[in-house]
Amino acid sequence: MSLNIESPCVEKQVNNDTYKCIEIKSKIDLYNKKISEYKTLIKSSSDKIKQLKKDLYCECNHVFVRDPSAVYDDIYKYKCNKCHLYKNYYG
Ligand SMILES: [Zn+2]
Repeated sequence: MSLNIESPCVEKQVNNDTYKCIEIKSKIDLYNKKISEYKTLIKSSSDKIKQLKKDLYCECNHVFVRDPSAVYDDIYKYKCNKCHLYKNYYG
């Protein structure tokens, strides 16, 4: 009785199974394309959120309160307790 110590990769080379390699590369390309599409979607969504926060800052009747987590040299010490945006952040 002999032990089969060949790795799966060696076995594939022996079988000359190039179609499987092409299929795997195709899947890798597909997932890379998906990653690229998601990155574009994340960038687009981030830009929309940024603009919406600016719009909210202009629309809100702010009630600014001191942010308890701010330290003495923080630029943004006051936060609106209605819209949760910092005072003068978009001003
Ligand atoms: Zn506000």
